[in-house]
Amino acid sequence: MSEILVLVEHVDGEVKKVTLELLTLARTLGTPSAVWAGPGITPDAKARLAEYGAEKIYVAPAGDIVEYVVAPKAELLAQLVADKSPSAVLVAATAEGKEIAGRLAVKTDSGVITDAVGLGEGFVADQSIFGGGINVQSKVRKGTPIVAVRPNSTAPAPAAGAGAEEEISVALSEAAKAARIVERVKQEKGARPELTEAAIVVSGGRGVGSAENFSIIEELADALGAAVGASRAATDAGWYPHQFQVGQTGKTVSPQLYIAAGISGAIQHRAGMQTAKTIVAINKDPEAPIFELADYGVVGDLHQVVPQLTEEVKKR
Ligand code: FAD
Repeated sequence: MSEILVLVEHVDGEVKKVTLELLTLARTLGTPSAVWAGPGITPDAKARLAEYGAEKIYVAPAGDIVEYVVAPKAELLAQLVADKSPSAVLVAATAEGKEIAGRLAVKTDSGVITDAVGLGEGFVADQSIFGGGINVQSKVRKGTPIVAVRPNSTAPAPAAGAGAEEEISVALSEAAKAARIVERVKQEKGARPELTEAAIVVSGGRGVGSAENFSIIEELADALGAAVGASRAATDAGWYPHQFQVGQTGKTVSPQLYIAAGISGAIQHRAGMQTAKTIVAINKDPEAPIFELADYGVVGDLHQVVPQLTEEVKKR
C-alpha cells in the first residue's frame, strides 16, 4: 500500500483529534505515516498515533522547527516528499494547516486542495468552496496531492499500526526563519471541547441580546457536551470573545450538529458553518435566511426555546 504522510497537530505533547481523523481517512487510501514536527513527543503520543494506524512516525525533534512560524513545517514535509515519495500528504484544514499546505505545494511543484470534507479513491476530494456555498469534487493533477481536510470530516476509528519511529533532521533555509515566534499565550483550556473540533456547536447571535444572556447558550452547550460559538454581531458587541466567532472572518466549523440561536444566517456566517452535517435554527423571524439552510427550524423566542431545550436534554 502506498504511503500517505499525515502532519500531526499537537499541543503540549497531546495529539489533537483531527490528526486521528486524518489517520483514519488515510487508512482507507493507503498506509499512513505520521509526521511529528518539533520536540516533545511523548510515549503516550506515539502510542496514540500507532493506535490509529500510523505505520511509521517521522519525528523531527529540532527545536527550531517550532520556533519559526509555519515555514519550517512546510520545509520538513517537502524534504519527506522528496525522500519518501508518498502518494499524498494530508494536513488539517486549520489556519496553520492551510498555510503549510500552500507553501508545500509551491515547494514540491504540486497541486493543493484545501477545505476538503471528504477524500476518496484516486485522492478525489469533496471540497467546500466559495465560503461553503458549493461542494465540488477536485483532484490534483500535478505532483503529490496535498490535501487540507476539515476537522470532523471523518469519524476517528482505531486500527493498530506498527508506529515505527524514524528520526528526521532538517537543515532549515534562511527563508524559513523569516518570522520567529516571540511569545506563546496559552489559552485557558475550559471544560468545553475546542470550537473547531467539537462534534456539536451551539452558537448565539444578536438575538441573544446581551453578554449575560449568553449563559443560556452556554447551558445548552454544556448539557450537550458542545462548544459555544457566536456570530460577529455578538462578538463585535462584546457579548462573547472574538476567538469564538464563527464565519468568514472567524473560525470554520464542520460539526455533526450546529445549533444557531438568534442568528439571521448572513453569507459571512454561513461561510463558517454550512458544512455542518445537521443544522438547527432557532429564530423568531420565520423569514430569516438561516431557515433556508437549516435541517430543523424552531420559530420562536430563543429566550424561551433554548432553556426548554436544555431542560429536555438534561432529562435524557
Ligand atoms: P442579525 O443579522 O442582526 O440577526 C439576528 C437574528 O436574531 C435575526 O434573524 C432575528 O430575527 C433573530 N432574533 C432576534 N431576537 C430574537 C429572539 N429573541 N429569539 C430568536 N431570534 C431572535 N458574521 C459572522 O457571523 N461571522 C463572520 O465571520 C463574519 N465576517 C464578516 C466579514 C465581512 C467582510 C463582513 C462585511 C461581515 C461579516 N460578518 C460576519 C457579519 C455578517 O454580515 C452579519 O452582520 C452577522 O453575521 C449578523 O449576525 P447575527 O445573525 O447575529 O445578527
